[in-house]
Amino acid sequence: MKVIGIVSAAALTAIVATACSPMKSQSPSGIERLYVLDCGINQGKDQSRWSPGVNEGKPIEFSDNCYLIRHANGVLLWDTGIADAVAAMPDGLVTGGGAITQRRTKTLAAQLAEIGVKPADIGYVAISHTHGDHVGNVALFPTSTILIQTVEYEWAMTQPTKPAFAATQNFDKLTGDRDVFGDGSVLILSTPGHTPGHQSLLVRLPKTGAVVLSGDAVHFRDNWDNRRVPSMNTNRDQTIASMQRIATVLAEQHAQLWINHDKPQSAQLRYAPAHYE
Ligand SMILES: [Zn+2]
Repeated sequence: MKVIGIVSAAALTAIVATACSPMKSQSPSGIERLYVLDCGINQGKDQSRWSPGVNEGKPIEFSDNCYLIRHANGVLLWDTGIADAVAAMPDGLVTGGGAITQRRTKTLAAQLAEIGVKPADIGYVAISHTHGDHVGNVALFPTSTILIQTVEYEWAMTQPTKPAFAATQNFDKLTGDRDVFGDGSVLILSTPGHTPGHQSLLVRLPKTGAVVLSGDAVHFRDNWDNRRVPSMNTNRDQTIASMQRIATVLAEQHAQLWINHDKPQSAQLRYAPAHYE
């Protein structure tokens, strides 16, 4: 059965309750550390591409983060960012039909080396969605299992620019939510709308508390506050429902929302080699 479209408020509450119920009476979180990694910047020519009717014609710069979670039972990387090859391009990489310039100052590979993590150590690479600023380095992890929604994988393979997966890549294709380590500490949340199989990540850190990593469920704080839907999203109603779903999870889990592309918010985070516990 494919579940696509708007979910009723009651059904949504039930889904959230089901997804989160194992965590309420759970054993302590097995997470040891979360690192925030600098996965590049996007320079947009016109902010209104992401916030229709607002700041038309004004440029904007986004942060682009990856996140590495060390859990007692394995290592998970959330998103892989802009391709490391872009770090060697003095003028960056122009994408999106000229709308965006991608840049990188540090490679993902170098940041992982700095914290003593080898690609082969990373059992899971979970990707929020298949846009280039999130899957740019996915082929650096040829032995990792990719956690991706089935609908996202199928959609991506119909797109003009397909993700550059490694030939040996293992896939664990999901339909809906996934409790990655089985202890409720790292939970993939299905949040479609930006793309057909977009997903976000609820991370329940032992000291910091719960954090939702947005993916591109929302791009900026102001868009979150106003529930704005970017023009390139594949489904407006799903986008709004996903934002509401995240708001419910934030309230229930007393969680922070870390908006990946929100540069002012990212500037407040501690990047690797610092970490969160
Ligand atoms: Zn993005």
